[in-house]
Amino acid sequence: VTEIGKPERAVVTTCAYCGVGCTFRAEMRGEQLVRMVPWKDGKANRGHSCVKGRFAWGYAQHQDRILKPMVRESIDQPWRAVSWEEALGFAASRFKAIAATHGNNALGGIVSSRCTNEEGFLVQKLVRAGFGTNNVDTCARVCHSPTGYGLKTTFGTSAGTQDFDSVEESDVILVIGANPTDGHPVFGSRMKKRLRQGAKLIVIDPRRTDLVRSPHVEADYHLPLRPGTNVAVLSALAHVIVTEGLVNEAFVRERCDWDEFQHWAEFVSQERNSPEFLEPVTGVRADLVRGAARLYATGGNGAIYYGLGVTEHSQGSSTVMAIANLAMATGNIGRRGVGVNPLRGQNNVQGACDMGSFPHELSGYRHVSDAATRALFEAEWGVKIDPEPGLRIPNMLDAATDGLFKGLYIQGEDILQSDPDTKHVAAGLAAMDCVIVHDLFLNETANYAHVFLPGSSFLEKDGTFTNAERRIQPVRKVMEPLNGYQDWEVTQELARALGLDWNYTHPSQIMDEIARLTPSFAGVNYARLDAEGSLQWPVNDAAPDGSPIMHVDGFVRGKGKFVVTDYVPTDERTGPRFPLLLTTGRILSQYNVGAQTRRTENSVWHAEDLLEIHPTDAENRGIKSGDWVRLASRSGETTLRATVTDRVAPGVVYTTFHHPATQANVVTTDYSDWATNCPEYKVTAVQITPSNGP
Ligand code: SF4
Repeated sequence: VTEIGKPERAVVTTCAYCGVGCTFRAEMRGEQLVRMVPWKDGKANRGHSCVKGRFAWGYAQHQDRILKPMVRESIDQPWRAVSWEEALGFAASRFKAIAATHGNNALGGIVSSRCTNEEGFLVQKLVRAGFGTNNVDTCARVCHSPTGYGLKTTFGTSAGTQDFDSVEESDVILVIGANPTDGHPVFGSRMKKRLRQGAKLIVIDPRRTDLVRSPHVEADYHLPLRPGTNVAVLSALAHVIVTEGLVNEAFVRERCDWDEFQHWAEFVSQERNSPEFLEPVTGVRADLVRGAARLYATGGNGAIYYGLGVTEHSQGSSTVMAIANLAMATGNIGRRGVGVNPLRGQNNVQGACDMGSFPHELSGYRHVSDAATRALFEAEWGVKIDPEPGLRIPNMLDAATDGLFKGLYIQGEDILQSDPDTKHVAAGLAAMDCVIVHDLFLNETANYAHVFLPGSSFLEKDGTFTNAERRIQPVRKVMEPLNGYQDWEVTQELARALGLDWNYTHPSQIMDEIARLTPSFAGVNYARLDAEGSLQWPVNDAAPDGSPIMHVDGFVRGKGKFVVTDYVPTDERTGPRFPLLLTTGRILSQYNVGAQTRRTENSVWHAEDLLEIHPTDAENRGIKSGDWVRLASRSGETTLRATVTDRVAPGVVYTTFHHPATQANVVTTDYSDWATNCPEYKVTAVQITPSNGP
């Protein structure tokens, strides 16, 4: 503050990092951001923040920002800075040529989970109404798409059931495959506060995360399962609940499909689902499973929170449904203090999913095959919408390598770094005739792009983000866009270059269109958001004030649906060459592929990725903390520094994935969730050997 001077004005806006959605006062001096102060009235954070939201904003005005559009004929040529008009004309003529030669389905788009709801809505509209295809997807493909499938199937809608405040009435908190202290720090602190007040804690995680043991919190049960065995552990918990008579039968009879419940109960009661039978599979002691099951079922209000350790598996969707089964069987749904809560990773991954960014769904999670829904959009947009689902990101890349998919518009996502099997992603991108990257920085994916459209940071735009508790919050323009345009304006200009007659002059008009077309957003508008600060969807005639808690009187789908989820081992197996199991995660100071945090002073805390290895495995290999090691899998290899720690169990290693030099996804497999293609990032058979460094 001393260097820059005192702030002259302040704007209240929403953090652009994680799904907690903290509100800040952005304090400005001229066009220079001076500091971010957590906003006391922010409903998600109540005046708190973490080191990312508070300090890691320097990337927004970083010298690496690309502010002029660029084009090139082919990816082996140098970039050429051009006018916006030339870049958009170049992109449009290539996309038109592709459609004319290969058909509309040779084109597609990727909606950013970092951009606003309005910007995401426009990209999927451009793909459907402009490109004429349903080939649209979003980064939830690689994170929470199993949440979409699993919660929609069991409860009827693809979102967490509770607001954050609800945790204050939880008696038992079950955290599975999530590390909220690092991944969702402000909510992690609220959770810890409740635990300090006496709530009980069950953690299901291969690692001993901070929640398991920290100065003032200790888990009552830590189930350190072998990576890839979530469904087996959840089956064992369900076995205990059913066979020991701990089911809340009154709730199940009233709220759920009784026949499906009985079918499920019969399945989980089988001896092969007992904790004792499954102990050799999961590596978790049967007595711990029995104790945890009794505590969750009988300890009062039981709330489940989960993260990517649940979804990024070949059985990700099954795991989400197994969690939903547990909550329904014990009656832990539909009131404060209970529920099933995915901790969404990115600031607006919930919103991107809500906005119709999947190839099979229009906004509000309505399938494209539904004629009435299509008719609504067709009347508003004046086009026909294909009733068949389009391609998911991995299928777009497969089709590209087969010569069938030729043009991709990527808004704010670095798929070369974030998606699995880097070689395959590169091959798919290299096979396309036109890749448009719309981003703040020349990211790794841009190495395969023909058009680069400069993006705008969250400080330079108006719009809304939706956090993990379905809370729609304003994002307000703090400074003028450095490139001259907000992202929604760039998408609109691309649409116009393709011949579409779009004339939005403010994102509020886009939100009005979203509200007209999306029943769960029917009551959302900018005037209300300004007056009330935020709204939690559904907001409509049935819930005019919004919905902090869902499924209160009945499930969105009617009766809650129990689904039998049989444990199926992943095809990724350890063996003599690759005897260890690798799992991955985030660290507090850094964020995802690090495009933002690496360009801030947060990097002083975590300047490179690390590899955690158990002392026994390290000693067997002659490895000490700080040594360089080679991490190799069947897919590829990379080099990192080792941290020797018993936070991981013997046989398990763990790495972060924030730095491009590491390229952690070079080693991950191409196995994916059976229902959604979400990659199995959390289970890779690897070998670790000493190395001299990169
Ligand atoms: Fe931003 Fe999440 Fe940190 Fe809040 S907890 S300041 S939303 S990164």
